Amino acid sequence: MDRAAAERLDAEDPLGPLRGRFTLPDRVIYLDGNSLGPAQPAVAEAVGTALHRDWSEGLIRSWNATVEGPGWVGLPRRVAGAIAPLVGADADEVAVTDSTSVDLYAVLVALARLRPERRTILLQEGDFPTDRYVAGSVADLLGLEVRTAPRDRLGEAIDDDLAVLVLTEVDYRTGSRHDAPDLTRTVHSAGGLVLWDLSHSAGALDVDLHRWDADAAVGCTYKFLNGGPGAPAYLYVARRLHARIRPTVAGWFGHATPFSFADEYVPAPDASRFLAGTPPVLSMVALEAALRIQADVPADARSAKVASLTELFIDLVDRHCDGFGLEVVTPRSPAARGAQVSLRHAEAGRVMRALVDRGVIGDHRPPDILRFGFSPLFVRHTDVWDAVHVLVEVLSSGAWRDDRYDRAAEVP
Ligand SMILES: *Cc1c(COP(=O)(O)O)cnc(C)c1O
Repeated sequence: MDRAAAERLDAEDPLGPLRGRFTLPDRVIYLDGNSLGPAQPAVAEAVGTALHRDWSEGLIRSWNATVEGPGWVGLPRRVAGAIAPLVGADADEVAVTDSTSVDLYAVLVALARLRPERRTILLQEGDFPTDRYVAGSVADLLGLEVRTAPRDRLGEAIDDDLAVLVLTEVDYRTGSRHDAPDLTRTVHSAGGLVLWDLSHSAGALDVDLHRWDADAAVGCTYKFLNGGPGAPAYLYVARRLHARIRPTVAGWFGHATPFSFADEYVPAPDASRFLAGTPPVLSMVALEAALRIQADVPADARSAKVASLTELFIDLVDRHCDGFGLEVVTPRSPAARGAQVSLRHAEAGRVMRALVDRGVIGDHRPPDILRFGFSPLFVRHTDVWDAVHVLVEVLSSGAWRDDRYDRAAEVP
């Protein structure tokens, strides 16, 4: 494909106009929206208003929703309402709070307590580190055992001792995507529960937790949801579990009526029982503003755009990078991958540093993975075309061998 063909794809892209709502630096091709999504002027404005008007002038009155008051107290529920359609859930099944790691801990403890006679938490080998570490601390707390299985042998490891399977839908290293409905069905027929990590899914792909029949999920909002660095995470608990599931941290914000200051703890009737303390208002305001753009994304448009961008990238790498020691690690079938393509190269760290130096920003996952994220909301087909041509230049010239690229940054 020539560059003009990429331009034609961009001209026909229903998501094309959304790019203009992001702040993207000149001369940068940003293929790292899977690690930190970009800012939007609308977010800066909302945070400015929260700081200068609502906090500075409104003070404590801003907790309430009045003509002037922004109603900070309702932020967790409002943001949950904005995230719910992105994961195929209803608003009362979603809570926005804490970090993905903490939410994972809270939900995993609560799910495991629903299967007290079972002893195993199952994970995939090499799944995202925090998922593995958190599962270890839950196992310590409850006296359970963590088992891991290779990606293609998870099915065999599902037995009648399994309490909870914890699984990232899209693998952060390879970009492979699980068949979530199928795995969920297998776990359910063995009597277990499934906790999905959607950190690399929501906002990038069309996710449908109801159709999957998922029990629970968590995910972060600073990647494909563009909520800003360290933005609060979300969790999902299927409505059928609400009556029975106990929040792990029974905090006042998860009480049915927090401002009754009641002596007795009565959990909120829905997933918001997993709220613990006062929400981080400035971060929530940023996230709420960042999510507004999602309402303008047509149904099913995300997965189609992502398939088109990733297919173009893989195709161009196949055509132009032969003989440079690269290997495409990500599955070639669009249904089997997320919004990411990973390439293996023996000197991946150096190659990525040389790319970043030339304005093509992806990232590197040790030891040998070059990772490129394709956010459907702002990456264009022409960006893909240009990025591959910079990659070809870096590899064919051997520019990555330069001494400048010896040293890794603290965050690679
Ligand atoms: C990014 C990511 C997280 C992030 O966890 P935090 O606690 O929000 O830092 C968790 N799980 C996966 C799979 C991720 O990719």
